[in-house]
Amino acid sequence: MGDGLSSLQRPEPLTLLQQVFGYDSFRPGQETLIHALLAGRDAVGVMPTGGGKSICYQLPALMLPGITLVVSPLISLMVDQVQALVQLGVRGAYLNSSLNQKQLARALDNACRGMYKIIYLAPERLNTAGVRRLAESQPISMVCVDKAHCVSQWGQDFRPSYLEIPRFVRSLPRRPVVAAFTATATPKVRRDLAEMLELREPTYITTGFDRPNLYFEVQRPQDKFDALVACLERHPRQSGIVYCLTRKEVETVCQRLCKLGYHATRYHGGLETEEKNRNQEDFIYDRSPIIVATNAFGMGIDKSNVSFVIHYNMPKDMESYYQEAGRAGRDGSAAECILLYSGRDVKLNQYMIEQDPEEETVDAATRDFLRRQELLRLEQMSRYAVTGRCLRNTLLAYFGERRTEPCGHCSNCTRAVRPARGEERPAIDSRRQALLSALFEERTRQARRHGVAPANIFSDLTLREMAQELPENEFQLLQVTGVTFAKCRRYGAAFLRVIARSKEEQS
Ligand code: ADP
Ligand code: ZN
Repeated sequence: MGDGLSSLQRPEPLTLLQQVFGYDSFRPGQETLIHALLAGRDAVGVMPTGGGKSICYQLPALMLPGITLVVSPLISLMVDQVQALVQLGVRGAYLNSSLNQKQLARALDNACRGMYKIIYLAPERLNTAGVRRLAESQPISMVCVDKAHCVSQWGQDFRPSYLEIPRFVRSLPRRPVVAAFTATATPKVRRDLAEMLELREPTYITTGFDRPNLYFEVQRPQDKFDALVACLERHPRQSGIVYCLTRKEVETVCQRLCKLGYHATRYHGGLETEEKNRNQEDFIYDRSPIIVATNAFGMGIDKSNVSFVIHYNMPKDMESYYQEAGRAGRDGSAAECILLYSGRDVKLNQYMIEQDPEEETVDAATRDFLRRQELLRLEQMSRYAVTGRCLRNTLLAYFGERRTEPCGHCSNCTRAVRPARGEERPAIDSRRQALLSALFEERTRQARRHGVAPANIFSDLTLREMAQELPENEFQLLQVTGVTFAKCRRYGAAFLRVIARSKEEQS
């Protein structure tokens, strides 16, 4: 680094975390990773979905002298992340095919003039003329690789375009620090990706895979649809995902929910791109709080206020289950992951594995081998569905984390001691509930006005904390988790008005 600010002037990472991102403290692994990158060391961060990988590169990006490039495979993810950054007052941009020629040219011109600190782009774009020009006109301090497991042939999501990354890094006049992030934990993939990306003695950070705010439950209901409706009734006005195994089931479940008056939308690979995008947006913007989907949905969706993920069918393996269930509760608030299991799910999965047409390119022996692996993984998934042991410990054990104490926060742990569901939930008094509704409405209004996703204004957690703390002025508002200076300036007055009004009504 060296050519950055001197250490005297440089703010501490913790100060930036609080002032720019509005969080009190680092999550496990974040600080170590950030310090490694700031010291010029390559790093690999393996953290579960929702673990907080973005801050690990966004924060050092603000402190490094030049530009940070973030390589990401998904357009929706880039748009969302950049939108969130801009809300925080950070100069971010993306270069991808969602921009037309003119917009792209302008973004590149701006980038070449040093307008942006963080630029997201797809791997295919790295070795294009435009990005070359950028690399010649501005120093690139850091290259971050999101979903880095895509570089490995051993992973499920291998993307040949990721091999462009090391080629690009080699071509730069000065080698930037390189960071790789993934939520896929197998040691083999981890080693592979460091090699493939040509990392130099990287610092490895692997945080635990536990997500304490998630409640895990398995049900074997007589009637799945009734069980689903019962779950939804426990989450009025909250947002959630219902995963089904087949497109047909998505259609049926979604239709039945809509008939009952739920604001549900659908998502699967058989829909036109346009409808997929529209439905996904309706979900992200809370216009349709419930989305019924196949596993085609979710990669790259960063919606922090998903309160429940219900699996209407058992997925094919534990990796899929944990990844999909893990889309709940990303903002850290309590969320539920419920699996509605039946023996038919096992047969359906078996059938799908046997019918799977891919791997046509490999020989028969290899194909057989791969199928057997898949069936073994399915068997382990089925064991989760029927075990009487702690569900969380069963999941974590699968990913290599051993625990002996039962978690106390899954349906197997609480079945013995649990009274009727819901009773143990702290009853929020009605006044606070009314204020919370008003805050949610205000957020919807602001979101519409500013054209951003509600969760990018304030997370559900932030609104709940506001309803709890009842800040009276900007200073008090800034103490609330997730409220930054930039957001306070932009939205503070509106939300403080809502709180003041509710106090008046009660006195
Ligand atoms: P990942 O990319 O690992 O799936 P994200 O970076 O999207 O996870 O972070 C998940 C959520 O956690 C986001 O809403 C983010 O703002 C929040 N978050 C990250 N770091 C912290 C922190 N130190 N304190 C509180 N919330 C955090
Ligand atoms: Zn448990």
